[in-house]
Amino acid sequence: MWKKVLAEWFGVLLSPLRLVTSRMTESETHTSTGQNELSGRKGTASSLRLIVLEPRGFCAGVRMAIEALEEALRRFGPPVYVYHEIVHNRAVVESFRQQGVIFVNDLEKVPPGSILLYSAHGVSPEIRRQAAERRLRTIDATCPLVMKVHRRARELAEQGFKIILIGHPGHEEIVGTIGEAPEAIHLVSSAEDVEQLNLPESSKLAYLTQTTLSLEDVRAITAKLRERYPNIVGPPEGDLCYATQNRQEAVRAIAREVDVVLVVGSPNSSNSRRLMEIARGLGTPAYLIDSAAEIDRRWVASARAVALTAGASAPEKLVQECVLVFVQEFGATVESRRFCEENVRFALPRELRQSL
Ligand code: SF4
Repeated sequence: MWKKVLAEWFGVLLSPLRLVTSRMTESETHTSTGQNELSGRKGTASSLRLIVLEPRGFCAGVRMAIEALEEALRRFGPPVYVYHEIVHNRAVVESFRQQGVIFVNDLEKVPPGSILLYSAHGVSPEIRRQAAERRLRTIDATCPLVMKVHRRARELAEQGFKIILIGHPGHEEIVGTIGEAPEAIHLVSSAEDVEQLNLPESSKLAYLTQTTLSLEDVRAITAKLRERYPNIVGPPEGDLCYATQNRQEAVRAIAREVDVVLVVGSPNSSNSRRLMEIARGLGTPAYLIDSAAEIDRRWVASARAVALTAGASAPEKLVQECVLVFVQEFGATVESRRFCEENVRFALPRELRQSL
């Protein structure tokens, strides 16, 4: 279903984009025959290589949330309300707005009895309570991997643990997780924050993490936590999800091989920002772009190889628009580099498998 939405966004561009995609096969390189009026490379053999990374783009949680919203629109018609952005991507959110979806940050704005969908980032129990009070018909599109962290927070709190939650203040996922056990959770976002913690060493301590952090940050913070609290418990690599880890791993593997890394994703997408930061941390200039229109020619003027990836909430069509710019305007050759297979799929929310 989401493919239909994407096709509508980029209907005009779809045909040439298909052409580009069909030419791009794994470990295969092709030379562009694209025309370039702007770059001065028209008709010349280009030495610029664009390496498109896999896996990239939509993760299973984002895919499920988008499909759930599509299905809710189809079944109930507009307006469908969504608590927060369905996923952190401007193009996706705008497309749904045009179809009659209303995004809210406050349930007071949702008329009683309306359909309300919870986004992939999840919500706190307080929001569920408010929704029940307003007799809203809710659909829970929280990613199951976020739900797992919520469940763990509840279990740890019930067992008497104090929980150090590693994440970014104000991020929806973090707000939702804190809401599961507000008295037990202490939020930290850096190793310096760990220094400020005022918990006795004898406390029963555990840590959890946001699913979209960088592995480097998690390792630095958990090392500090173990130094201060040797008995603290938690997974060695935090609760980073498979999609976060796979996209980061691909960037780590390629960053030193290229001159520039471009990440397709919106500025409020945590996992997209981490991809940019990882490349920069390895000494490679990297930029986050919301669309192909944001590609700055100066970034690639002297580059011989550019890597292109996308955060977990960025649609493939935006990636393909960027590929098209590289082919047509910069005369680049395009390669696809796959670092691992991804076959994760999540079922639609239970509410859409039953009648509301
Ligand atoms: S990034 Fe990971 S945790 Fe977040 S929605 Fe995607 S699969 Fe779920």
